[in-house]
Amino acid sequence: AEVLNIVGGGLAGSEAAWQAAQAGVDVVIHEMRPRVGTFAHQTGDLAEMVCSNSFRSDDDEQNAVGLLHWEMRAADGLVMATADRHRLPAGGALAVDRDPFAASVTAALMAHPRITRRDAEITDIPADGHWIISTGPLTSAALGQAIQRETGSEALAFFDAIAPIVHADSIDMSKAWMQSRYDKGETEEERTAYLNCPMDKAQYEAFIDALLAADKTEFHEGETAGYFDGCLPIEVMAERGRETLRHGPMKPVGLTNPHAPDIKPHAVVQLRRDNALGTLFNIVGFQTKMKYGAQTDVFRMIPGLEEARFARLGGIHRNTFLNSPTLLDRQMRWRAHPHIRFAGQITGVEGYVESAAMGLIAGRMAAAQILGQPLPDVPQDSAMGALIHHITGGAEAKTFQPMNVNFGLFRPLDGVRGGRRGRKDRYKAYTDRAKAAWQGWLAQSTLDADAPAA
Ligand code: FAD
Repeated sequence: AEVLNIVGGGLAGSEAAWQAAQAGVDVVIHEMRPRVGTFAHQTGDLAEMVCSNSFRSDDDEQNAVGLLHWEMRAADGLVMATADRHRLPAGGALAVDRDPFAASVTAALMAHPRITRRDAEITDIPADGHWIISTGPLTSAALGQAIQRETGSEALAFFDAIAPIVHADSIDMSKAWMQSRYDKGETEEERTAYLNCPMDKAQYEAFIDALLAADKTEFHEGETAGYFDGCLPIEVMAERGRETLRHGPMKPVGLTNPHAPDIKPHAVVQLRRDNALGTLFNIVGFQTKMKYGAQTDVFRMIPGLEEARFARLGGIHRNTFLNSPTLLDRQMRWRAHPHIRFAGQITGVEGYVESAAMGLIAGRMAAAQILGQPLPDVPQDSAMGALIHHITGGAEAKTFQPMNVNFGLFRPLDGVRGGRRGRKDRYKAYTDRAKAAWQGWLAQSTLDADAPAA
């Protein structure tokens, strides 16, 4: 019989292995730990939670991640069943006792008669057979490079570089103004796409001093792994020279301050619209490793941002992820190599739960393919389907960034978006619709290892 090979026994790979084995398919998990480590994992166990011990909200009526919990439980998910057994008190959140959790997942998989584990780092794209690649945000360098050689550098990212985001209504427009550099653009909207905050020389020098003195988080040892370029933190730019920022993201050219048209600014901080509503702006080029407290102090030194409220602070994290909308089909297969599926965080979902969820689906789809019993498409109204739809086609490919599950990914309900029902009713309606859709799909997708192939 044909074997399913899974590269990486993390949250996604573990769930994929369980689902495929339960469907009657033999599985080999190729896991490089503990022989080859990552900067974040501590053990050789499968399904290790690398940072927080929370699976977030467990509310399956008002919260999209809680709904995903529900769907995974309904599909006999190993990750959820084990999390439930090792639950810690945490209010409405599902917090997990991480070491016994990972040890139990590992034990359950190793006790399964259809699953074996091989100690191996896979360093190349497998040429044939059935494969799921679920090597996560810290995919080993050799495999990451092999994938990049195949997909091109545009299609695989190694870092999330997050610039801080400010609420527009907290910006002081008596100091700031809207203008694109050199008034570029076809329309008035484009010519005023940026929000500018000017600095004089004294303000700039004080800002550089504050950047240099600020508390920073260091990259973990091994985190940059020779990849890191093109998204330098602003404080590192400042360390390279006091004028570097003035020649980079803070260059004052092509801009005229309407509040003081005769004074040329020494430097200008630019913010760009971050959402269609125009309520949020990100500070262009200001990815940073400063600690959160330091970020608010330093950014409020910028003229116009003295009272800024931040919707999100900046950060830079190692995260290997594909441009899934261009690379994967609805079945999570690599279009160019359909014997390979991807699952987990590498597909551009974000979080333990979302990663395990994509493992669950990929495991079932791969098993169905091997058994010759094709599965219907996952319904878009389920949380699973909303996520899959987003990463395999719904998201804008050009600006694709990792995504948590959320109700914004769901198709609108007839007549209930736009405020006719309250938010609580709307979320309840989303979750009711999702549960019905998911149960319908599960009922149509039972696999039978003994049935003759279709
Ligand atoms: P992983 O769980 O990382 O599993 C991938 C597995 O593949 C690993 O076991 C690895 O050893 C193995 N592997 C890698 N390359 C190879 C290879 N070439 N050959 C064989 N095996 C290989 N999410 C949250 O919800 N909460 C958090 O607090 C959180 N904190 C995070 C902190 C850090 C530092 C990082 C990097 C990510 C964090 N995430 C967090 C995001 C993400 O949800 C988790 O990383 C999650 O574990 C992803 O699941 P996964 O199965 O895709 O990857």
